[in-house]
Amino acid sequence: MRREHFDIAVIGGGPAGLAAATVASEKGAKVALIEREPSLGGILKQCVHDGFGVIRYDQKLTGPEYAQKEIDKLNKNETTKFLLTFVTKITKRSSDFVIQFVNRSGADEIEAKKIILATGCRERTSKQIGVHGTNPAGVLTAGTAQNYVNLQGLMPTRKCVILGSGDIGLIMARRLTLEGAQVVGVYEAKSAPGGLTRNVVQCLKDFNIPLYLSHTVTKVFGVDRLNAVEISKVDDKMNPIAGSEQIVECDSLILSVGLIPENEIAKQLCVPLCPYTKGAVVDQTLMTLTDNVFSCGNALHVSDLADYVSESGEIAGAMACAKIKNRNLVNVTKNKNLLYVVPQKINLDAPLDETVFYFRVAEEYENAKLTIYADEKVVFSKKYVHLRPPEMERLKLNLEAYSDCHGFSFVLEVGV
Ligand SMILES: Cc1cc2nc3c(=O)[nH]c(=O)nc-3n(C[C@H](O)[C@H](O)[C@H](O)COP(=O)(O)OP(=O)(O)OC[C@H]3O[C@@H](n4cnc5c(N)ncnc54)[C@H](O)[C@@H]3O)c2cc1C
Repeated sequence: MRREHFDIAVIGGGPAGLAAATVASEKGAKVALIEREPSLGGILKQCVHDGFGVIRYDQKLTGPEYAQKEIDKLNKNETTKFLLTFVTKITKRSSDFVIQFVNRSGADEIEAKKIILATGCRERTSKQIGVHGTNPAGVLTAGTAQNYVNLQGLMPTRKCVILGSGDIGLIMARRLTLEGAQVVGVYEAKSAPGGLTRNVVQCLKDFNIPLYLSHTVTKVFGVDRLNAVEISKVDDKMNPIAGSEQIVECDSLILSVGLIPENEIAKQLCVPLCPYTKGAVVDQTLMTLTDNVFSCGNALHVSDLADYVSESGEIAGAMACAKIKNRNLVNVTKNKNLLYVVPQKINLDAPLDETVFYFRVAEEYENAKLTIYADEKVVFSKKYVHLRPPEMERLKLNLEAYSDCHGFSFVLEVGV
């Protein structure tokens, strides 16, 4: 069988994949962009609220408006688009990758020299958080509820409880209220909200939707359809406190309990994953530890802003076209006050002048000082008045002066 051959295959047509494919095509690469849905845009298609593009376009756009701008950029160059095409497997054969997929014509495959994984993330479900009880209809993730309401014009609930205060749950609390549903409350097991401060204010406070911290759902009730949930207070280790149970009547439980980078294809390729981000371990070019496989967007680590997702797609697209001969990798380490730092490696033989780091803190801190060292030399230092885990931080640094160092370390001191 003769397969079509590409320089780069981008898997996933959300903002990360769109930006990666656009930049790689602009640089003259023959690019295949593969997307399982009928149209490009990824999760942005169902995000009808505004707030996208403030950094990238200096405008407050809705998700579909932001996606359309990215699609228009892509269409200025030639890219082969495979829509309604699901990538099932990627294998390495000699120096190339074989990408197997299924679509309405059946199973087929193409070849590419390089792969960019831009497969986004998926939501945690009730199975992954261990809610007890029956298995009725009416337990759904916030993203699924958003898809019903915004894309299919269907109302999944009249009266609901939202478990988890991630951004999607907060946004759906407001959206469902605007559509006429009663949102009894948003219940969060942690002692602080999981979403951005702006979403807590604009989606809950402005609509008088109560937020109950240190509470969780411990049981669901209902045979065919959910009719109530049991809610318990939790202690500081997030264990339910006996005797604190209360029953709340509702027809739906909407879950916003975390996002996990989608890396099934990366696992097939034996790409090493990071225990903190659950995405691939990468260097500053966003190449994974598997040569010629790149990762970007929410597949790499869950970002709070689409603008940073597009930026990472652009880095992966540009670097997949760059001629970098050697890999001389050193580690980027972090202290315990930081949840993660991406990239986790620096290739001293790749461009160092515009190295972009993304990081999150492990807990909420006031008056913290970040110092970045190359061996023992201070590369960068900054004081932060307030840092919160839901708010990702970004830094762009020139590391050219440290091209002979043995490693970089991020040290966050708190209460300074
Ligand atoms: C509900 C919600 C609200 C948000 N609100 C905001 C906001 O207000 N402002 C903001 O800036 N950001 C917001 N974000 C974040 C932003 O939308 C995401 O960070 C961004 O869409 C992630 O882009 P991505 O390309 O990495 O992934 P996605 O957009 O998820 O795209 C991944 C694509 O890969 C495809 N794919 C996956 N696996 C395969 C496969 N095997 N074969 C083929 N295709 C595949 C998927 O179909 C999908 O289209 C929000 C996100 C959500 C979920």
